[in-house]
Amino acid sequence: VSSSSLIHYGLNALHMMQAHVLLRPFCQGLGMIVTLHRVQPAQDHDFQPNALLSITPEFLDQALLHFKRSGLDLITMDEVLERMMTSNDGGLQRRFVCVTFDDGYRDNITHAMPVLEAHQCPALVYIPTDFVEGEGCLWWAILEEIIDANSLITLIRDPKRGEEVFATKTAEQKYGVYRKLYRWLRSLDETRQKQIIADLCKEHHFDAKKLCRDMIITKAGLKKLSQNPLITIGAHTQSHPNLAKLDKIEALDEMVKGRDLLEQWLGVRPRHFAYPYGSPCAAGWRDFDLARQAGFSSAVTTRKGMIFKKHHGYRYALPRVSLNGYYQEERYLDLFNSGVPFSLARGFRHLNVR
Ligand SMILES: [Zn+2]
Repeated sequence: VSSSSLIHYGLNALHMMQAHVLLRPFCQGLGMIVTLHRVQPAQDHDFQPNALLSITPEFLDQALLHFKRSGLDLITMDEVLERMMTSNDGGLQRRFVCVTFDDGYRDNITHAMPVLEAHQCPALVYIPTDFVEGEGCLWWAILEEIIDANSLITLIRDPKRGEEVFATKTAEQKYGVYRKLYRWLRSLDETRQKQIIADLCKEHHFDAKKLCRDMIITKAGLKKLSQNPLITIGAHTQSHPNLAKLDKIEALDEMVKGRDLLEQWLGVRPRHFAYPYGSPCAAGWRDFDLARQAGFSSAVTTRKGMIFKKHHGYRYALPRVSLNGYYQEERYLDLFNSGVPFSLARGFRHLNVR
């Protein structure tokens, strides 16, 4: 959250200076790939630690309208790959937006699809297969629900220290404990993280599989969604692990098995891939190479940035721009689309593959 508020501060300052107007020709590239997770009506609730992952249908509508009015083409990932071959940075061609959704939230069908259809906007939806089978461990959402429903959380983090008790009565306490446990859980290896979440669920009588079934698209829903001509289904592993924490064989296995299951279910072999979490500590050079070995045509990270011509040589490490819950204002859209905040943050290195 702290780094996000820093970006927030920077964005506001930038907007005031109008620096992006001057710098934009050097930063805007061919276009951008946008990351979305959930699309749902605004929630009236004072504890929403995952608000970052959610925008409203109204804002999605406003964003797509804004992009179209700014002369951007709404295109598929295949066309992104095509344009990287045929276009030049700073050329006269129209720029693009490619919309992607991660994880397969059910609201993508109920709340996003009507907006996408109204704008005839294509979208790529990256699916972790365990989620669709109701077996996914959406640990960030489970942690939110357990903290929300309880005024005390008990947990054994270190057997030597024994049971710890966290007060989670007020919203402030809930946020504090959420942040602390979230950070700690992110640092654990996959097996231990799953075990801790299982312990938390058992202790606080929480049904993690029900949460997965309630939040994520069903297999039948996925099949129907995949038949919509606007939609492409992409692979997002089987269990949504932090790939960088797995050994090479396990990581490749996650990529291939997730893709092959989707092919079995849908009759179409997914050609595009998204790394779970997608940050430098969750997907690195080894994983970019594995995505290539697995035979994908492209793979996206969550590193921030625009798409430039030279990304064609880095199709397994494509950056994206997150349209997230903290920036649901039209003025940010123009700024994101300028590419300036991302170029500034990286000292004008456009590839952002580190
Ligand atoms: Zn994901």
